[in-house]
Amino acid sequence: MNITIDRESTTPIYLQIKHQIQEQILSGKLAADFPLPPERKLAESLGVNRTTVFNAYQELKADGLIASHVGRGTIVISTNDGAGNSGSHPSPLLWRQLFSESASRARDSLLGNILQMVSRHDIISFAAGVPAQELEPVDVIRDLQTQVLKDGGQAAFLHTPVEGHHPLRESIVKLLESREINVSLDELIVLSGSQQGLDIASRIFLESGDVVIVEEPTFFCALQTFRAAGARIVGVPIDENGMRMDALKPLIEKYRPKLIYTIPNFQNPSGVVMNLERRLEMLDLAYHYQIPILEDDPYGLLRYEGKAVPPLKALDRLGYVMYLSTFSKILCPGFRVGWMAAPKPVIRQFAWVKQNMDLHTSSLSQCLLDRFCRENYFSNHLKTLNQRYLQRRNIMLRALERYAMPDIFWNTPQGGYYIWCCLSEDVNTTQLLTKATEHRVAYVPGEAFYNDGQGQNYLRLNFSYPAVDQIDIGIKKLMQVIQESVVTTIDEEFPLEVRPII
Ligand code: PMP
Repeated sequence: MNITIDRESTTPIYLQIKHQIQEQILSGKLAADFPLPPERKLAESLGVNRTTVFNAYQELKADGLIASHVGRGTIVISTNDGAGNSGSHPSPLLWRQLFSESASRARDSLLGNILQMVSRHDIISFAAGVPAQELEPVDVIRDLQTQVLKDGGQAAFLHTPVEGHHPLRESIVKLLESREINVSLDELIVLSGSQQGLDIASRIFLESGDVVIVEEPTFFCALQTFRAAGARIVGVPIDENGMRMDALKPLIEKYRPKLIYTIPNFQNPSGVVMNLERRLEMLDLAYHYQIPILEDDPYGLLRYEGKAVPPLKALDRLGYVMYLSTFSKILCPGFRVGWMAAPKPVIRQFAWVKQNMDLHTSSLSQCLLDRFCRENYFSNHLKTLNQRYLQRRNIMLRALERYAMPDIFWNTPQGGYYIWCCLSEDVNTTQLLTKATEHRVAYVPGEAFYNDGQGQNYLRLNFSYPAVDQIDIGIKKLMQVIQESVVTTIDEEFPLEVRPII
């Protein structure tokens, strides 16, 4: 297998490797079952980091061209022998090869797997990132829907402006004021979930090869979205006070990133809160190096104890922060309503891109959520959630104390949804997930939150979704699974599939 690296090229090295292997597979030079060299060996022979080869292989796997099997290593699984249709027999269309490069980069089944798991009733799921079902204010929403349809009639079925239903934008501006964020209506856009904000921000700011700085670990959908845009992702380590500024500065100087992405409150997955000092430091760095900050804050209002720290957006004097939030974690994720507060030129650009995507966010969802805020249900509901989730968090902490082995560590989050667990280094939580789901309990493996295969001995536990009486039972089961698991160290030469099949 012949691969040459061009270090002067603007194409990232992992993509150079990927493209050359892909070309050799599609041209038939590498036939089906051809064994690719182990990551470490190829990295050594090319003089690159092992992570670079790991990323190239991940891309080829996502394209369905190679696969890893225990005992067989990584092999070619697809050749181009049906392509071209040059013979007299028409052959089936090779759909995968027609997809654009950015479409193939968007392939990742982890989120789909998690959503599927949430809908399974036979599993105690600590994997979800959604509110408790029994706390959803169904009766209130039913009444509000009747009112909306009575008062507004068909208006709720018509189009709204791309930027969002005007009354809802007013309600969100008020909500933001309570968090010390003061924006005008034209500095706000309603989105179809904050996930859409991540996607639009990637489209607006990122060219292939641009660098995005993220916390390490971070929200896996953000990683997927940045990857889909072809960005290079650079992780900054975190500690109990959030992203480490001593590590951020040299990375900014080295990589000159296009964007800093941060979840400063009850971070997903670690649950940590960035302290005030670091927020101010991050803003100073952003001002100095002229880098926009994408602040993702779905959990900030879900504080169960301790004192709130102002959002970066509230501290931002110069308009560098784009602030993303959502109704998904406090109300219903199914409404798909989030928002972005940012300087006007950003909002205008967001609106142009959103218009091509979905014209606007669901009118009925927006009308309902506006009523929910206006009639003061929001703050009452939030109070209830903060009491109930504190109780659930405590139940989970107590269960961990009772059942976890002495070499398992976890944090005590003051809010949000997650407890982040660190297991002993020889446990691989991705492999363990299959066994856990056989025992009817699920979590998200740590590896999902890293860009480069790290985090294999971590796992994220959600305490908002599982029923109160299931938390203790589920943690007990999970700890039994961990304890019983034969400690299998992964042979680097033959890595297992990294994505859980559930
Ligand atoms: N950002 C973070 C940090 C999240 O945890 C989530 C949901 N898990 C989102 C964004 C997406 O939320 P939404 O439902 O609004 O798209």
